Amino acid sequence: MSDLVPLQAVLNARTSSVPGEAAGAGRRGCPLSDLRDRLRRAGLRPTRQRLSLGWLLFGRGDRHLTAEMLYDEAMRAKVPVSLATVYNTLHQFTEAGLLRQLALDGSKAYFDTNPSEHHHFYLEDEGQVLDMPDCGITVDSLPDAPEGMEIAGVEVIVRLRRRTGSRQG
Ligand SMILES: [Zn+2]
Repeated sequence: MSDLVPLQAVLNARTSSVPGEAAGAGRRGCPLSDLRDRLRRAGLRPTRQRLSLGWLLFGRGDRHLTAEMLYDEAMRAKVPVSLATVYNTLHQFTEAGLLRQLALDGSKAYFDTNPSEHHHFYLEDEGQVLDMPDCGITVDSLPDAPEGMEIAGVEVIVRLRRRTGSRQG
C-alpha cells in the first residue's frame, strides 16, 4: 500500500500538492482541501479524525468497505483511532450523504464511497463487492408503492459464487 501519500505529511502540509493527483483534471486545490470542503458542505466539522479517515476512504476512487477494513487501513497508516470511532465516523458520513450503506446481508455492513444509486455484484463467500457496469441491469417494472409512500430508490444486488465444477453438495 505505497500508493498513498503518508497521511501525517498530508495533514501537516495544508497546501502542498499531492503526488499522483491528476493535475488540473477539473479539480481545484489539493485533495485534502477538497475533502475539508466536502465535509463542511455535508455539515460535518472537518476534525482531524474525520479528515484522516476521509482521506483513507475517498483517496482511492470508488470502493466498498467495512468498518473493519477501514480500521485495518487506519492502523497501517498509523492513524490513532479506535474501531468504535471508525464505526461512528462511517455512520456520520453516511447520514451526511458522503457514503452509502449497502444492504448486503445482516452480518457485515459495507459502505460505498460512491453514494449515487448503482447496482452491485456480491461475491458472498469472499465478501467482495463489485460495481455493476451501468448497462448491467434495467429495472423497468416496479410494484406500486404502498399507500402514502413513494419509491425512493432501487438497489439491485446480484449474488455471485465461484464456479467449482463438482463441488455441489
Ligand atoms: Zn458501489
